[in-house]
Amino acid sequence: MAWRDVSEQEAIVERLRAALRLGRVAHAYLFAGPRGVGKKKMARELAKALVCARGGDEACDACRDCRRVEEGNHPDVRWIAPEGASLRIEQIRELKREAAYRTLEARQKVVVLERADTLTAQAANSLLKFLEEPPVPTVVVLLTENAHSLLPTIRSRCQLITFPPLDAEWVAARLTREGVPAGQARLAAHLAPGLDAARQICQSEWFAPLKTLVIQWTQDLVQQGAQSLLTLQDKLFARNPEREEVLLWCDLLLLWYRDVLHVQLGRRERLAFAECRNELERQAAQWSQAGVLQALDAVLAARKRLALPTNAQLVVEQLAIRLLEGIRCA
Ligand SMILES: [Zn+2]
Repeated sequence: MAWRDVSEQEAIVERLRAALRLGRVAHAYLFAGPRGVGKKKMARELAKALVCARGGDEACDACRDCRRVEEGNHPDVRWIAPEGASLRIEQIRELKREAAYRTLEARQKVVVLERADTLTAQAANSLLKFLEEPPVPTVVVLLTENAHSLLPTIRSRCQLITFPPLDAEWVAARLTREGVPAGQARLAAHLAPGLDAARQICQSEWFAPLKTLVIQWTQDLVQQGAQSLLTLQDKLFARNPEREEVLLWCDLLLLWYRDVLHVQLGRRERLAFAECRNELERQAAQWSQAGVLQALDAVLAARKRLALPTNAQLVVEQLAIRLLEGIRCA
């Protein structure tokens, strides 16, 4: 049921379920790990399990409490995110004011603080007092991508749970089970930091055509030189692409040249474009290793520029010129 939503972090699910079963849930947790690995979902599932009317080590997902946590309006579950760049003292003060009241319905309150590393020093000190002596039973969950940015005094009062990055193979296998074609699943898993983001990429209508375009265009680039810009004009810019579409194209291009480099280095076991092995081998033979490294640099630089408001077509044309120089050097 509920925990299935965070199956990408099975070991952590088991640890929290055991704590719930044994009545040994910590007063404060620090969920630390990169973006997209399930920290928020895990915090939500834990909150649900803690306030679920049915009790036990898993939320029922059907009672009013569970539904209200899902909808973000359970009176005993507070979810706090930074206002602007930081979690401010006023937000912690308000939390403390609310926490002073008895729980409205649940056995205890739950507070989740997103991006806890953005706590200002003042806010962190205020929170510290709250962690030491919450006025009513409260489970606090701090979320962060960078546990080391938190005050040691706060860290030491929390039980640290480290979320490991997801293995791309695992994400790909999971998406394949959900019906995504294997080639696309593998690519999406390499493109996105987590399961949800990878799934979203697979659902994008641009994904399959952009993948085909990257393969075709890199081929044209080697065979036709500057003429290959016409392919891009035709297949990409002629239909006024959204910025995200150009970015995805760029990300795919980066993966492609990374794969070309892997083939050159003889590391063929974890290719993102595994199903295009023959084409990768062909292109790997046409580039020097220095040329591919230069291509990767050029794509990365273009990716950075494309993330800013800029003339995307111009950036891509300049990128093509740099790639062509790399081929000529070969
Ligand atoms: Zn429930």
